[in-house]
Amino acid sequence: MKVAVLGAGAMGSLFGGLLARAGHEVWLIDVWHEHVKAIRERGLRIRRKGGELLLRDLKAVSSPEEVGVVELVLVFVKSTATEKAIKGARVLLGEGTLVLTLQNGLGNVEQIATVVPISKILAGTTAQGATVIGPGEIYHAGEGPTAIGQLEGPPLERVREIARAFNSAGIPTEVSENVMGLIWGKLLVNVGINALTAITGLKNGELLDYPETVELMEMAVSEAWEVAKRKGIHIPSEDPVAHTKQVARATAENRSSMLQDVLNKRKTEIETINGAVVRLGREVGVETPVNKVLTNLVLMMERRYLGPSA
Ligand code: NAD
Repeated sequence: MKVAVLGAGAMGSLFGGLLARAGHEVWLIDVWHEHVKAIRERGLRIRRKGGELLLRDLKAVSSPEEVGVVELVLVFVKSTATEKAIKGARVLLGEGTLVLTLQNGLGNVEQIATVVPISKILAGTTAQGATVIGPGEIYHAGEGPTAIGQLEGPPLERVREIARAFNSAGIPTEVSENVMGLIWGKLLVNVGINALTAITGLKNGELLDYPETVELMEMAVSEAWEVAKRKGIHIPSEDPVAHTKQVARATAENRSSMLQDVLNKRKTEIETINGAVVRLGREVGVETPVNKVLTNLVLMMERRYLGPSA
């Protein structure tokens, strides 16, 4: 399968690297020139507990023009960059190209749909975890299930083929018929953990050590859950508040991606996580004051280190 990974940071390099190792023709595309150069010259190093993989001869480029039409585009830019990335990647899209997003946050599908027909868009979630160590090097921090599926249309055999390709590459993957429910289910966890860790500097598990952060977590997730219910989304978990606490406990030692973004003075995904809950809450008539406070605090922090353009 010819695959283009649009945004080959931590997750894009992980998925792209594993698919290439399994024999697929993978093109890593990233605007981070140093990373692309390092992969071309020295290979991609994937560190993981108990060893590492060094993948040489990977195709890494800075621009989609060098790639041409592919069978699958795997979008792994941050959700704040989706629209710009997909609009600049039209040359990858042919009649039969499918585009898959496993990004966090809301709005990725809608942004991809400005360029790609909805019948060609696949979405899902992944519990794989990775971080960038430096140019050409990532750390595979955790393993977990991935689920993919179509947003509409009759079930495509190609979706199963992609899941099979992921499975044989060492990425355990299922096909789901409720991808929006999965995306919202993961969103609710991110709503309860990411902004709170970014603001307080706490690790995921430490949020449960303080009654104040526990209360805010419960309130933020409950607001988002209410928005989901009003939108008719079927969340896979029966109690997303309890589920969020369980995830915080299971990932106790992790620094959430939003905390890492703040520590590294990068733009965060707040607008597509808590910010999206506020916007959608307004549309469906659900009050979301806790999510509004969390959003504004993170935006203020970004503005402090990125300047007024943030
Ligand atoms: P990352 O910042 O490591 O990688 C994103 C990459 O996209 C960067 O290398 C950046 O240079 C590149 N990029 C930005 N604009 C681009 C463009 N126009 N064209 C090409 N490349 C571009 O981010 P990540 O941690 O890999 O996360 C990607 C997505 O996956 C996010 O939505 C995140 O929430 C989600 N996610 C991450 C994890 C994780 O463990 N890191 C787990 C599950 C989901």
